[in-house]
Amino acid sequence: MPQLRTLAAPEPANVLPRPRGIPADPQKFALTVGPSAIDGQGVFAAEAIPARRKIGELRGEPISVAEARRRARGVARIMIVEVSERRAIDASASTDALRFANHSCRPNMVLKLQQGRVAFHALRDIDPGEELTVGYGRSHHLGRLACRCGAPGCAGTL
Ligand SMILES: [Zn+2]
Repeated sequence: MPQLRTLAAPEPANVLPRPRGIPADPQKFALTVGPSAIDGQGVFAAEAIPARRKIGELRGEPISVAEARRRARGVARIMIVEVSERRAIDASASTDALRFANHSCRPNMVLKLQQGRVAFHALRDIDPGEELTVGYGRSHHLGRLACRCGAPGCAGTL
């Protein structure tokens, strides 16, 4: 059997501290965006993701909940997360791959709000190529949109 060999540079003895003011990259795993069997575009794992690990964050424009509800009206595809009673994040113009996370009634991610930041964590081990999904919870669609997640026990609506 042929073997793949790579020449790795030796690890640097000292890793320089991150300069002040530059946040750590919140995206922890390689993801790809592509056509989804659930709806439109979806986000997929490009590498194996172990259960409970943070996958990444969804960043966007901070807006009020009132503005979020105004923007969501009559829009078929939108990614807005309400992070508190008054504040929301509109990720519609975000470049983060996680903005393509589709809803599933049996999701493999969970959304966690951490000090106004929107983070996604793996609910179980995820294989490369699997679509990443999340339970949207109470959505702006108020059950008027058909769910096509295909999971056993799918609620049928969003
Ligand atoms: Zn469903």
